[in-house]
Amino acid sequence: MKITDTEILQAFIRTCEDGWLQGWHERNGGNLTYLLKAEEAEALKPFFREACGEWVQMGVQAENLRGTYFIATGSGKYFRNVPLAPEDNLCILEINDAGDSWRIVWGLEKGGRPTSEFPSHFLNHSVRKEVTKGENRVIYHAHPVNIVAMTYILPLTARDFTRALWKSETECPVVFPQGVGVAPWMVPGGAEIAHVTSGLMKTYDAAVWAHHGLFVSGPDLDTAFGLMHTIEKAAEIYMLVQSAGGGRTGQTIPDSGIRDIARDFGVTINEAFLNAE
Ligand SMILES: [Zn+2]
Repeated sequence: MKITDTEILQAFIRTCEDGWLQGWHERNGGNLTYLLKAEEAEALKPFFREACGEWVQMGVQAENLRGTYFIATGSGKYFRNVPLAPEDNLCILEINDAGDSWRIVWGLEKGGRPTSEFPSHFLNHSVRKEVTKGENRVIYHAHPVNIVAMTYILPLTARDFTRALWKSETECPVVFPQGVGVAPWMVPGGAEIAHVTSGLMKTYDAAVWAHHGLFVSGPDLDTAFGLMHTIEKAAEIYMLVQSAGGGRTGQTIPDSGIRDIARDFGVTINEAFLNAE
């Protein structure tokens, strides 16, 4: 048995392939990280390198991620190549006891580093771990076309985006009842976008990056992928309606309808984004 045959690696590889098949990962676009459970990391250890890589400082630190392990996509690697050669395009990282550095313990066999957004993912994992009381495991960034297109026409506020998405597809208030955060356009890969995004992630499990893409989190790969998929599908419907109607909407889901959905499906809707009754 190879490490890539294990259930968790298989699930990670499949998520990369599914994202590629959705058209969300042109070239080396997007990145995915998974915080391994302690028992999963233990089961994978026999496959780790005998001589691990050097410790690399991240420039960020998290108390609640000291000594953890992550599966991550590689910097400059293409999602479409992950199923063909996972050992060359993915890695497993160990975080040091100080919670401020990583080293590669498996993968990237032809060389390379984890995604350049790893410090950003790391901060977001820390925030989501805290907010979800340890449930969150996944941070996923992709470039879905329609949610990016929406950032050229709507005001860049959580309220504008959340309302537009909730009203574009009936499942949305159930899938993301807290709404989505929105970050203004920023240069990717730096500390600033990491801090802004992790600020949004204290409230939301998804954040739109203006003119760039979408950042989502979740307790497992299916849930995180499903959140990305649901938001992008609602965005596609929104953009189709805008395009076909020349900006005119004949009718939509009323705010009272969103409250009714929340009541019947047992979710707590973020009232800040609904108009008063
Ligand atoms: Zn990106």
